[in-house]
Parts: sequence; structure tokens; C-alpha cells
Amino acid sequence: MQSTIFMSGEKPSLNFETPKFSYDELAQQLVDYTPDTERYPHDEASVVSVVEGIRAGRIGNVAVGGCLMKDGEIISREISKAVAPFHRTDLHVEMVLLNELEEKLCDNKKPRMRDYTLFTSQEPCPMCLARICFNQVGKTYYVYRDGNSPEAGAQTNWDRLPPGFKGLGSRLVIEEAQCSPELKEISRQVWLNSIGPAVNEFLDRY
Ligand SMILES: [Zn+2]
Repeated sequence: MQSTIFMSGEKPSLNFETPKFSYDELAQQLVDYTPDTERYPHDEASVVSVVEGIRAGRIGNVAVGGCLMKDGEIISREISKAVAPFHRTDLHVEMVLLNELEEKLCDNKKPRMRDYTLFTSQEPCPMCLARICFNQVGKTYYVYRDGNSPEAGAQTNWDRLPPGFKGLGSRLVIEEAQCSPELKEISRQVWLNSIGPAVNEFLDRY
């Protein structure tokens, strides 16, 4: 990952690594992968999240997917919808999943959000972390985070969240998924297939 210099007034230039595999190849790697749930308790939900990530990427979104679990069962799975079919820049997959859940729980004043677990294929951005704090979903696990990327860095997005949000989220678990390193790399490769063109699309709207 190259370092990035932002010059005021100029279109920011972000350089992402070239992916080593296509969506088809990565989808096949997921088919060939056998979850090892003894060793990696989050393997199955992680595979589902990355499969959804590929689905997001294939239709022109940033290739991030996720699922929601309750009582050990996957209750919904979704894709990021922020770029396609049109720009709805709030609709990262975390938002899509929590929107659906909040609508489903509309009549429930105390839905015990601590019983729900959100999985995503990529570390939530600060916007989604703020939403997670407001929503109070008990656990959030992400398959992959790029510690070297300009938008992440050495600290997690959670580490850098303003103190007020951290206070709201102090009972929540927000961590990297306990899945295999192989799945983390597949998730990273999936994301790399989409991120460059998507960021360019955002910036060209300026
Ligand atoms: Zn987000």
C-alpha cells in the first residue's frame, strides 16, 4: 500500500493494490474451503459474509457483505448497496442489515439487542460504527481489516471513534472475526476487486 498525500483542491488519489484473483476465482476458493468451526468459531458466518461481498461487487457495489445472527442462527444476509443500482451512500451493508432489523422490531421497545450478532466481510467504517452504537447490536465481527490502508491505519476505526460514541458502545463487542486467515485473505481480495473503481466513482461526482 502506497502512502497517500492529499493536496487541497485536487482530486484525492488513492492507490489500492491490484487483486490477485477475480470474483469467479474467489467464489471457487470459497466453495473449496471447508469451515473449521472447532478452531475458528466464526468460519461459517464469515463465509456467508464474503459470499455476499462477491454478490455486492458483481453488481457494481463495494464488495462488502454481511449477515445477522440470533441464537446461533443466521436470520438475514445482505450486500452493500451504496453505489448500485444508484448512489445511496448511507447503505453500507451494516446499515442495510440494521435498517431491516429495526423495521422488523418496530413495535418492540426492548428488543434485547445484545442477543444479536452482526457479521461483515470488512471492518465497519466510522459512519457504520456510529450506527452500531446507536442501535446497540450486541456483537459485531468483521472478517478483515486492512491495517495499512489510508482509511484504516494502525488503529482500528473503533479506536479512533469519538469518546461519546465509545461511551454509548461500551457494552458492545466490536472485533475481528475468529475465522481462518485464509478467509481473511479471500475477503481482502474480494474487496480489492471493487474498491478502486468505486472510490473513483464517488470522487467524480464532486
Ligand atoms: Zn460503513
